[in-house]
Amino acid sequence: MTDRPVRFHNTLSGKEEAFHPLTPGRINMYVCGVTPYDACHLGHARCYVTFDFIRRALTRLGYAVTHVQNFTDIDDKIIHRAAERGEAPAVLAERYIADYFDKMDKLGVRRADAYPRVTGSLPAIVAFIERLVAKGLAYAAGGDVFYAVRKFPGYGKLSKRSPDDLQVGARVEVDDRKSDPLDFALWKAAKPGEPAWPSPWGPGRPGWHIECSAMSLAAFGDTFDIHGGGQDLVFPHHENEIAQSEGATGRSFARYWIHNGFVTVNKEKMSKSLGNFFTLEDIFKKFAPRAVRYFLLTHHYKGPLEFSDEQLAAADARLKEVDADLRRLDAALKTPLAAKPKEAKAVAAALDAFGPAVDAALADNFNAPKALAVLFALLGELKERAERPKAIDVEGLRRGVALVRDTFRDVLGLEVGGDVVPGGNADADVAERVARREAARKARNWAEADRLRAELLAAGVTVEDTPQGPRWWRS
Ligand SMILES: [Zn+2]
Ligand SMILES: [Zn+2]
Repeated sequence: MTDRPVRFHNTLSGKEEAFHPLTPGRINMYVCGVTPYDACHLGHARCYVTFDFIRRALTRLGYAVTHVQNFTDIDDKIIHRAAERGEAPAVLAERYIADYFDKMDKLGVRRADAYPRVTGSLPAIVAFIERLVAKGLAYAAGGDVFYAVRKFPGYGKLSKRSPDDLQVGARVEVDDRKSDPLDFALWKAAKPGEPAWPSPWGPGRPGWHIECSAMSLAAFGDTFDIHGGGQDLVFPHHENEIAQSEGATGRSFARYWIHNGFVTVNKEKMSKSLGNFFTLEDIFKKFAPRAVRYFLLTHHYKGPLEFSDEQLAAADARLKEVDADLRRLDAALKTPLAAKPKEAKAVAAALDAFGPAVDAALADNFNAPKALAVLFALLGELKERAERPKAIDVEGLRRGVALVRDTFRDVLGLEVGGDVVPGGNADADVAERVARREAARKARNWAEADRLRAELLAAGVTVEDTPQGPRWWRS
């Protein structure tokens, strides 16, 4: 398959632009992963559902996507939390990495192609820092190593702030060992009792930013296609990654940067310090994971997303309507019928227009709400045509139902409509009882008809009377 044109917002240029991969048809995408020191929350769900959706969209548009995502499995936050709980940092990190996979699997986030970890990348990280020191872009100071921000001329090009602006409004920490308050740590000397790895500057651990430069270089080389993450990573994390990588290699780093918006509660950014913070563990006690995913995808990834229980309840209800619609259509389309050529032609035209309309929504800055609108339009048309009193195109409508299910599953990552009601003894039994009820109705034996309907309902089968006769589905 050849790749199709796609446009999206590039944080680096500040504009929506046409995408051209380095190698036609192939995309290398690096997404910043979690620091596993606490349970996954809704902000994580938004980020990783976004990049999962983007990956699915690019795959559908014909690209072979390689997705690499790191785990910051050693960090100040992990060390502090582990000390509070009296456990080893590695044990704590492992537990929250397991939580990450558990929650993201439930959300239908496909696994990345590789998950490099800091603790598995130390030689590459140390070599990267040595390279920066050799180039005069970094300096050692008492067992720490800092990046000299003002030595990198492009600093600020992603976040659109100059070092001078940063200096003025700075909340930068005062640290005597730094030559300039803007400089940031590449290597941190270990304090007694902290996990440490050997380095030319003494035992210690990497600063946060250097790992992504080292890991993306190891995975993709100097230059790659897409770098992603949450909007809060633009500064300083991604700005610092650019300074490190372009400083070391002298080549351009990621060519396109994609950032997803915040999750807000009462218009404030969801964060732990504000206490308006929801773990996925808690949310999944009340709502199905697919409702969370659907809620996220009903909003464009770039904007802020206002969270509320009401919105999740509405998302859950909407998906259940889709389930019921699809099951009803399955039931209605059980019997083959010869369609009128005109009707068959109209259905074929609707199905032919559907794929390109989905592609167009995806290629337009990964517009999930628009893709959903295209899906709901087709579903609505299928429902409307299936309700017509005669000469419906059963074969065409069945293809349409399969298309709706497949697109929900493959593109949106949402399972809808349950299983197609299969044949078999259980179905034969239901069909027999439905037929008996219909016979009772025709004989105007309403008591018997009602009794059979109640019996079927108790068995989880809903019967609906239509101009074409009774339809039934499992609820
Ligand atoms: Zn990163
Ligand atoms: Zn909304």
